[in-house]
Amino acid sequence: MSERRIGIVGAGAAGYFAAINCAEMDPEAEVFLFEQSRKPLSKVAISGGGRCNVTHACFDPKELVNHYPRGSKELLGPFHVWQPADTMEWFEERGVPLKIEEDGRVFPCSDKSSSIIDCLNRSASEAGVQVKLQEGVASASRGPSGKFEIGTSTNSCYEMDFLILATGGGRQSGGYKIASDLGHAITAIQPSLFSFHIDDPLVSGLQGLSVSTVTAAHRPSKQEQSGPILITHNGLSGPAILKLSAWGAKTFYECDYRFSIEINWLGRTTSDQSLEQLSNMKSLSSKRLLSSENPFGLPKRLWERAIDLVGIGLRTQWAHVTNAQLQDLSEMLTRKTLQVSGKSMNKEEFVTCGGVALEEVNFKTMESKLTPGLYFAGEILDIDGVTGGFNFQSAWTTAMICSKSVTIK
Ligand SMILES: Cc1cc2nc3c(=O)[nH]c(=O)nc-3n(C[C@H](O)[C@H](O)[C@H](O)COP(=O)(O)OP(=O)(O)OC[C@H]3O[C@@H](n4cnc5c(N)ncnc54)[C@H](O)[C@@H]3O)c2cc1C
Repeated sequence: MSERRIGIVGAGAAGYFAAINCAEMDPEAEVFLFEQSRKPLSKVAISGGGRCNVTHACFDPKELVNHYPRGSKELLGPFHVWQPADTMEWFEERGVPLKIEEDGRVFPCSDKSSSIIDCLNRSASEAGVQVKLQEGVASASRGPSGKFEIGTSTNSCYEMDFLILATGGGRQSGGYKIASDLGHAITAIQPSLFSFHIDDPLVSGLQGLSVSTVTAAHRPSKQEQSGPILITHNGLSGPAILKLSAWGAKTFYECDYRFSIEINWLGRTTSDQSLEQLSNMKSLSSKRLLSSENPFGLPKRLWERAIDLVGIGLRTQWAHVTNAQLQDLSEMLTRKTLQVSGKSMNKEEFVTCGGVALEEVNFKTMESKLTPGLYFAGEILDIDGVTGGFNFQSAWTTAMICSKSVTIK
């Protein structure tokens, strides 16, 4: 029997992927996967609304890294080793057909996260991974022999040659304490990917409406994102808002989620361009009612709300609208300032900004620069992506690099 023992802490996406690949690449090794809860892969189960958005069809590493507010520089090398095409091939070869949706998100054809979970469970069992459920790792240190001595919640002790921490993000992750006991700095833990609470007459009561191309900007930090926006019962959500929340996660945390954003409901149309369009409507449709002629294709109720708020009656004909009112309407549509007063986590996907400091990790191997034999994979690192499958992709990639590094040693 080989003396090589590999301990992996956390049976989420990263931990499972690392364990399976370690066991497959080195069949002689003993691979232990410790999970504190009863249920492994619990986030995979609920991910993507139960469909599991397993990765994103973005196959150029240089382009891929642009989707990571934290970790983009460090992930460039790793994505040259393991990128979305590799992830897709890995699952498809194991009997999970995948599909690419129009926006690039990749899901199992079954639309069920259980397809991914079954595949990971089957692969782990076939490769001989020893999954230890309800056995959280409470402590880890270097023993006199140079091996890691780990203590678990069942009062058991194990000796490991290699230790891979894959305990995920958020305050419940037990990995931060272990990493910090082994010398690592942990950057501030804050949420990312959230919707904004906004109480403003322009949007209140309009929940359920969506606009396909909107630009949302936070001027003080020069952050700006475009894409669909959804009006919710307490504010705004949708891809443009979630992306803005991710890029501004630290800034918004620091101001206790109270800040103002500027919304351009017409995407990239400038206020001058929209004013020109409105003036053309005034000349060409002078006899028609403003409420029934919406030149920008906005949802009818949003358009009516905007014209009402600039003081134009719904029964007003274009001919009777003043130039000052057109100017106000143009500003309302292209440069509307909204006050954010709080946040709600996104039900589809949320992640942690912050974690194990990246400068202390060698991204060629995912090994600690401070403690040889210690590795990191997944969200425990100070890495997070925007929505769309990018968070799982960084988990698969960092886990695969851990497996490759540990098994060639
Ligand atoms: C609702 C929701 C939906 C999401 N949907 C998507 C999606 O569709 N696509 C996407 O790319 N991303 C999605 N994400 C993000 C994605 O789930 C995470 O980025 C990913 O799961 C991180 O994987 P991980 O293995 O690093 O951590 P986790 O999945 O969090 O796994 C860590 C595991 O470690 C265990 N653990 C912690 N401490 C210890 C300890 N001391 N000992 C033993 N075990 C321990 C935990 O119990 C957990 O099981 C979603 C997130 C949420 C919350």
